[in-house]
Amino acid sequence: MSQSLEDFARGKLGALEQKQLRRSLFDTERLEQAVTLRNGKKLISFACNDYLNLSQHPEIKRAAIAATERYGVGSGASRLVTGNHPLFRELESRLAELKGTDDACVFGSGYLANLGIIPTLIGPDDLLIAAELSHACILAAGTLTRARTFLFHHNDIEHAAQLLDEHRASYAHTMLVTDGVFSMDGDLAPIEELGALAAEYDAWFMTDDAHGIGVLADGRGSSFLSGSKAAVPLQMGTLSKAIGGYGGYLCAAQPVIDLMRTRSRTFIYSTGLPPASVAASIAALDLIKREPAFAALPLEKARLFCRTLGLPEPESCIVPVLLGDPSRTLAASQLLETEGYLVTAIRPPTVPEGTARLRFTFTAAHEDHDIFRLAEIVKARIMAS
Ligand SMILES: *Cc1c(COP(=O)(O)O)cnc(C)c1O
Repeated sequence: MSQSLEDFARGKLGALEQKQLRRSLFDTERLEQAVTLRNGKKLISFACNDYLNLSQHPEIKRAAIAATERYGVGSGASRLVTGNHPLFRELESRLAELKGTDDACVFGSGYLANLGIIPTLIGPDDLLIAAELSHACILAAGTLTRARTFLFHHNDIEHAAQLLDEHRASYAHTMLVTDGVFSMDGDLAPIEELGALAAEYDAWFMTDDAHGIGVLADGRGSSFLSGSKAAVPLQMGTLSKAIGGYGGYLCAAQPVIDLMRTRSRTFIYSTGLPPASVAASIAALDLIKREPAFAALPLEKARLFCRTLGLPEPESCIVPVLLGDPSRTLAASQLLETEGYLVTAIRPPTVPEGTARLRFTFTAAHEDHDIFRLAEIVKARIMAS
């Protein structure tokens, strides 16, 4: 028995509880499409990143089942040892084609991808310039590099340029990293401008397109919004959101991908994805390619919500409604739950102090009448209060 250990954990939890920052898990069963079951109650979920509901799609489930029947439930080892079942090559070539790169490398998750990619490219003698609202795993990867790190203000090109101008020359290699779509704000990074800036300073530019792949620019993601591929030599993302399953990826030039497979620690020292996950992603990418109008639906639903509520035009399927205070946000989330909607309260440290918010995500399966009703409740009973 370790009394000090339990006292430590209890003390921490108590302090978080007081600030309304303790988190809890709630059993939530997905019934179909956007409908979930929580505490015995059916809720329409506006809290899920499965934008195309592909995790529930019959064709994709069939692909996962077939792969399980043929190859088993697990990979058995790191892909470099014996875990490289034949589906990986197929998925990686599909991803490379979608993103217009030589090749792709699939990792265990988006989080593992960032922890693997960034420290493979830069180290203690190098420089990392990252967007201040970058996803937690980009910042965690930054600490693993021990590179000199600066954060640039949200979407502030001038600030990024100033940091590069001041510091670039003192370091061997530099990475410039941003979310393509910001996961808690739903806005886009100025990818074209950052790409040009990175090229000017010979900084290696990476976007994390976790919330862009599958749903923006015919499913090709945020680097393709101008109609052609932006200057993003490192396109990273996840297969666990619009793609509906699990896994992370990097799409890049051949030598970069070869280096990842040789040196990236989360690739080398972690077991390959289960065959079912890989097969599901292949089937999902096929479906998205076949049905671009379907892939565009979640953003259309987000637009409908924003127009009804008088909010600015959304740039992605994520719409935040900032309430500021964690307890007000929790109360709002609870009110929506009694009305039959699942909408998550997002609190610090996931977002900066004072910016607690409701985060709405829209999916292809949301009915317009549900969106109207939800918007009315938010307008009359949350924003007005
Ligand atoms: C969700 C997310 C990740 C992590 O991806 P997982 O596959 O869930 O590990 C990374 N980056 C961003 C921007 C995300 O939103």
